[in-house]
Amino acid sequence: MKIWEGNLELKSVEIVAHETKKFRFVRPAEFEFEAGQFVSMRFDVGNFSAEKKSTVWRAYSIASESSEKNFLEFIVRIIPGGIASGVFDAAVPGTKIWTKGGFGNFVRSENSDAELIFCATGTGIAPLRSMIREELLEKNPRKMKLFFGGREPADLAYLDEFFAEKKVATKFGFSRSDDFGKFAEIASHCRITSFLETENFGKTAEFYVCGNGSMVLETVEFLKEKMPGTKIFHERFT
Ligand SMILES: Cc1cc2nc3c(=O)[nH]c(=O)nc-3n(C[C@H](O)[C@H](O)[C@H](O)COP(=O)(O)OP(=O)(O)OC[C@H]3O[C@@H](n4cnc5c(N)ncnc54)[C@H](O)[C@@H]3O)c2cc1C
Repeated sequence: MKIWEGNLELKSVEIVAHETKKFRFVRPAEFEFEAGQFVSMRFDVGNFSAEKKSTVWRAYSIASESSEKNFLEFIVRIIPGGIASGVFDAAVPGTKIWTKGGFGNFVRSENSDAELIFCATGTGIAPLRSMIREELLEKNPRKMKLFFGGREPADLAYLDEFFAEKKVATKFGFSRSDDFGKFAEIASHCRITSFLETENFGKTAEFYVCGNGSMVLETVEFLKEKMPGTKIFHERFT
C-alpha cells in the first residue's frame, strides 16, 4: 500500500469524553490504509524562529473504517502539557496537520474461521473500532466480541455506538465506578482481564489488544499464560 504524505485538513471537532476529543479530517483521495493502522503527525516545538524550529512526530490510530472515503476519524486524549495534545486542543475546522500514513501491522487476520476478540481501554478503542466497522461490512462478518474499559463511563468514547451494535457481543468494564447508567446490562465494575478470566473462548479465537502500555502488557501476559498458542495481536499507545 502506498504511503501518503501531506497536510490533512480538519473538518470537525467534538468533545466525546472526559479529556477526549473526536477529530474528522478531510480524507485525501489518494490516502490509503487498512483498518487498524495509524498515521504519523508532525508538530512544531519550542521557539518558532526559522533557525530554532524543531519538530516531533506522534502516532494516531485511525478510528474510521477504511471504506469511509469522506473523512479520517481520530479520538485523541488531551494530555495537559503534551506537545501534540496542545495542538489538538486548540484545533478548529480548517486547521492543517502534516501527516504520513497509513502505517502498521495491527490489522485483522485473513483467517475466515477466526472469532475476533477485541480488548481496549481508553482511546485504544480507535483501531478496534475501525476493524469492527470494516468487518461488519464484509459479506460474512466473523463472530466478534468486544471488551472495552476505563475508569468510568464519562472517560470513554463510542459507548453509545457499541451499546447499540448488537452484532458484536460487547462488555464494558469500569475500574473506578459502579454507576453504569444506561449501560448496566453489559457493564461491570472490573478490569478487562477479569472478563478474560471468566469467558470461554474457542480454539479459533484471535485477540486484538490496544490501549496504554501497562494494560496491553498485562493483558498479553495474561493471555499467553491462560491460552498458549492463541493468536494475539497488540498495539501499545505509550
Ligand atoms: C501506534 C500508536 C497509536 C496511537 N494512537 C493514539 C490515538 O488514537 N489516540 C491518542 O490519544 N493517542 C494515541 N497514541 C499516543 C500519541 O501518539 C501520543 O503519545 C499522545 O497523544 C501524547 O502526545 P503529546 O505530544 O500530547 O504528549 P507528550 O508531549 O509526548 O507528553 C507529555 C507528557 O505526558 C506524558 N504522556 C504521554 N502519553 C501519555 C499517555 N497516553 N497517558 C498519560 N501520560 C502520557 C509524557 O510522559 C509526558 O510527561 C498512539 C501511540 C502509538 C504509538
